[in-house]
Amino acid sequence: MNKLSIRDLDLSGKRVFIRVDFNVPLENGAVSDDTRIRETLPTLRLAIDRGARLVLASHLGRPKGKADPKYSLQPVAARLSELLGKPAKFASDCVGADAEAMSNLLKNGDVLLLENVRFHPEEEKNDPQFAKRLSMLCDQLFICDAFGSAHRAHASVVGITKYVKQAAAGLLMEKELAYLGKAISNPERPFVAVLGGAKVSDKIEVVQNLMKLADAMLIGGAMAYTFLKSQGKAVGKSLVENDKLDLAKGLLDEARKRNFKLLLPVDHVIAESPESTATKTVNIDTTPDGGMGLDVGPKTVELFSKEIAKARTIVWNGPLGMFEKPAFANGTLGIARAVAAATKSGATSIIGGGDSVAAVEQAGVADQISHISTGGGASLEFLAGEKLPGVEALTDKPAR
Ligand code: AMP
Repeated sequence: MNKLSIRDLDLSGKRVFIRVDFNVPLENGAVSDDTRIRETLPTLRLAIDRGARLVLASHLGRPKGKADPKYSLQPVAARLSELLGKPAKFASDCVGADAEAMSNLLKNGDVLLLENVRFHPEEEKNDPQFAKRLSMLCDQLFICDAFGSAHRAHASVVGITKYVKQAAAGLLMEKELAYLGKAISNPERPFVAVLGGAKVSDKIEVVQNLMKLADAMLIGGAMAYTFLKSQGKAVGKSLVENDKLDLAKGLLDEARKRNFKLLLPVDHVIAESPESTATKTVNIDTTPDGGMGLDVGPKTVELFSKEIAKARTIVWNGPLGMFEKPAFANGTLGIARAVAAATKSGATSIIGGGDSVAAVEQAGVADQISHISTGGGASLEFLAGEKLPGVEALTDKPAR
């Protein structure tokens, strides 16, 4: 990576502004899943060990530019204190005299968490004055460890970098970029991409870009039906984006011309509706009119698993069925197990997107995946070949 890393900075005695992603779920005023906080601990511990004075900022939820106690980061300060084994102070606003005074009182190794940056509408507008006010809380040093927000040009991610001397990547950010960057620039081959989820329209750019980079693509989930219908197959009541049929057909034609291996489901689990538990598994060519495809079938799992087993690099985004319902979870869980098995045999596996992450957890194989990305939207944009504004804004490493 040609961007400065936290490891390149002289942090001792300095107030450093660290943008983290503490957008965690809360229940009854407490953090109910602290994964995102734990993911960033290596960065925070490194900064503490180096004698920095830490000023942490994050968003939480969508408070729409207004202070709303429901989206306060106060419970996160409590959990962070437990995880760090030292108190994290909390500023009730992310800008202004109080936050400035609190940041000025920090001693080496102290931690201050600011209130939700999205309590101010200027955050999402990337307002320069607001970014400047944020920067006043640090000694011109900024670290971004919020990979999950790196696709957003917001004030605490991008704007602030204009008002500091050095803007560097944190360790989590570096790890994300290392895994995803290698997959799209220099993957070990064969490189197999597995895509699922609800909509083709969300993933068109990803399909297009990965068709250039990967050796095979396996498509399941609801998005497969737009491709299947574009081939003239009967898909019953399955979800189809009719305005994307031409595009899907174009992608399939291109794959055929280039001899690119793009596999679609060969069988599926159908029901009358997602609520129904009366399911039937049928070949893809024999879908009855009233049937809705809600999961890939066992033959598809076998076909896809064979490709996955050959892979040296696997990127997976999106479930292969409506896996939240046990009746339609087998396909996704089968693929999760196949990805885990391939990883055991030496492949590098990268999973992004909340649903696929939930699926590997449900399958009990999350610890057998090489890299679980913390950023669903950001990882998709990265895989689509787009530049992430939050990464672009970081300071380039000096030429050697
Ligand atoms: P996405 O956010 O695009 O990755 O889509 C995830 C959602 O797609 C999950 O909530 C799944 O339940 C849903 N999904 C996947 N396959 C199907 C399907 N065959 N029919 C309906 N919904 C599906």
